[in-house]
Amino acid sequence: MSSLEIINLSASINDTEILKGLTLSVPKGEVHAIMGPNGSGKSTLAKVMAGHEDYEVTSGDVLLNGTSLLDMEVDERSRQGLFLAFQYPLEIPGVNTTNFLKTSLNTIRKAKGEKELDTLNLLKLIKEKASELNIDEKFLSRQLNVGFSGGEKKKNEILQMKLLEPKLAILDETDSGLDIDALRIVADGVNSHKNKNNAFLIIT
Ligand code: ADP
Ligand code: MG
Repeated sequence: MSSLEIINLSASINDTEILKGLTLSVPKGEVHAIMGPNGSGKSTLAKVMAGHEDYEVTSGDVLLNGTSLLDMEVDERSRQGLFLAFQYPLEIPGVNTTNFLKTSLNTIRKAKGEKELDTLNLLKLIKEKASELNIDEKFLSRQLNVGFSGGEKKKNEILQMKLLEPKLAILDETDSGLDIDALRIVADGVNSHKNKNNAFLIIT
C-alpha cells in the first residue's frame, strides 16, 4: 500500500503558480529522490505538504496512508506522521534544544497512542540517538539551532527524525553543505531509520 500519494497538485504563492499538476506516489518501505534545477519548486513542494500558510493549493490532493493532509493544520500533519527536514533549519532563540526535543517526542508519542516518557527516559533516549549521530551532548543544552554550523543544523534535523519516527520523512537538501563525515552520518541516519512501514522523499 502506498504511503504517500500526490495527485495532480498545483500550488501558488502570491498568485504565481509554482507547482503545476504534480503526480507522484511513494510506497511504504521505499526511498524516492527528487532532483531538479534551482527554482524548480522542490522546496515549494515540501512546504506545501507541510502546510506552510503562504502557499495556496489550487488543485489536487496529498494523501498520507489514504488520508488527505491538505485541510489539516501543520501540527496535525505532524501527528499523522509527516516530518520535514528543512533545507535551511531555523534558529529559534529562547528555545532550548533538549526541551524542544522532549516536548515534540511526547506530543508525537501521545498521538501514536504510546505512553509519554518521563524526563529521565526522555533524556536517555535523546542522548542515545544524539550519540548515534555523533552530536556532542553540549549541543543539547543550547538554544535550538542558534549558532549551529550548517552541518550541525542538518544533523539536528536528522536527530529529530530519528526520535519522532515519522511515517513519511521529507528531507529537503539535508545533504547540501555537509562535509563527507556529516554526509555519511546523515546517510546512516536515514538508512537506520528506514523500515517496511515508512517512506522517504529526499530532495537533493
Ligand atoms: P527549489 O527548492 O527547487 O530550488 P523553490 O521551491 O524554493 O525551488 O522555488 C520555486 C520558485 O518559487 C522559485 O522561482 C522562487 O523564486 C519562487 N518563489 C518562492 N517564494 C516566492 C514568493 N514568496 N513569491 C514569489 N515567488 C516565490
Ligand atoms: Mg529548495
